[in-house]
Amino acid sequence: MSSATAQQRILVVGAGYVGLTTAACFAHLGHDVICADIDRAKVASLSAGIVPIREADLDRLVGEGIAQRRLRFVISVAAVAASCDFVFLCVPTPLRADGETELSYLMSAIEALAANLRPGAVVVTKSTVPVGTAPKIGAALGRTDVGLASNPEFLREGSAVADFLAPDRIVVGADDRSVAERVAALYGRIEAPLILCDPNSAETVKYAANAFLAAKVSFVNALAAVCEAVDADVDVVLEGVGTDHRIGSAYLLPGPGWGGSCLPKDTRALVGVASGAGYVFDLLEGVIAVNEQQLDRVVAKIARVVDRAGIEGNAVGDSEPNLDGITAAVLGLTFKAGTDDLRGSPAIRVAERLLEAGARLRAYDPALSSNLGKRPDPEAHLPEGLALSGSALEAMREADVAVVLTEWPEFRSVDWNQAADEMATARIVDARNLLDSAKLRASGFVYEGLGRR
Ligand code: NAD
Repeated sequence: MSSATAQQRILVVGAGYVGLTTAACFAHLGHDVICADIDRAKVASLSAGIVPIREADLDRLVGEGIAQRRLRFVISVAAVAASCDFVFLCVPTPLRADGETELSYLMSAIEALAANLRPGAVVVTKSTVPVGTAPKIGAALGRTDVGLASNPEFLREGSAVADFLAPDRIVVGADDRSVAERVAALYGRIEAPLILCDPNSAETVKYAANAFLAAKVSFVNALAAVCEAVDADVDVVLEGVGTDHRIGSAYLLPGPGWGGSCLPKDTRALVGVASGAGYVFDLLEGVIAVNEQQLDRVVAKIARVVDRAGIEGNAVGDSEPNLDGITAAVLGLTFKAGTDDLRGSPAIRVAERLLEAGARLRAYDPALSSNLGKRPDPEAHLPEGLALSGSALEAMREADVAVVLTEWPEFRSVDWNQAADEMATARIVDARNLLDSAKLRASGFVYEGLGRR
């Protein structure tokens, strides 16, 4: 795919991580883009060129699009739909408490669009949806003169722009191949393998990719536990495993578990989709169970490091640690480095468990502590009782234990000698295997990683 991009009029519905990235990148590729969101405050902020999320390069592209008059923001899709050739649906599809995917955001966007689309327009689903959603969207639209396609998004938060502009592949599913080709042509300048297929396969690719990534992380976390039990070093083991080109080293790092707004809901949704179709996905159920266990393992390790529990091997979660009177410094709250997104963060889930066990918590996260006012809803995700500090050192002052929960690279350059001096006791659980254990021990720390000797 390398032909020049013919300019098209695109409406992107939803201005979140995916919608805003899609809108800004399509504008960057030369299209004329309107991005709609029901959140008035977000639309006002974006119209003024202020991007409310932390995402590398997104500010620049949004500014560029606005300055070149190729990108604007609106609240109502109804007024602008008639002028657009393509509509990308990028609204949330969360998992409901009953395990079903909430499609109401999608359906309400379609309701607002249906009567206003021009004949020949194409409605493209970029939101992640259960396999078999395309015909439901078609039925809700009730328009035989409008094309339908599924174009799942694989961007990673933290590198969303780079991923969009240099994807590993572009997948477009449509019953009508000419519709799929028209959608693929929007990406014209981008060099990437193109997979044109039916809508069910496109929808399944997205779930399958996220489920596989989750499986990789759960496998590594289970392996780290085995390494601890058999006195092997997970760093060495993973180097030996990851250099096998059939396996690869990406996503092969122990941690407090996978999280975020996508992997947890998409793995559960795939289990549900499979079971609805008569297949019991035991393997994926195991992947999810290991991930839940991992939170207990991290909390048990913290309790052990502060001499409050003696849980070893598989016996995690069998006893509730008592951390009354312990002050813990939590380093990192976002679900991964490079983003300010707290949704589904394992760091938050560990913090909640520590609070439940009676610990006092102070936390530092580079994306939040310096940026609290910018993102509209960080407090909504922070557990009650967690106090934010202005720096890692401030969080660790007088603490009994520090816990690294997000892999922010800047934690490597903390003055660990000073931290050791200022903590009540210099103990650290590095639940991301981020830090140099030898250096930390030389600074006087009792250091524990995951599966590290
Ligand atoms: P988000 O919550 O960041 O953004 C969604 C936006 O849609 C919000 O701004 C919301 O106000 C808006 N919205 C809701 N209903 C609307 C409506 N009817 N009309 C207009 N705007 C509406 O969500 P997100 O993280 O961008 O995810 C969107 C979809 O993309 C989900 O299906 C998700 O699974 C999928 N996805 C997300 C990622 C990711 O990394 N975040 C990656 C790939 C796919």
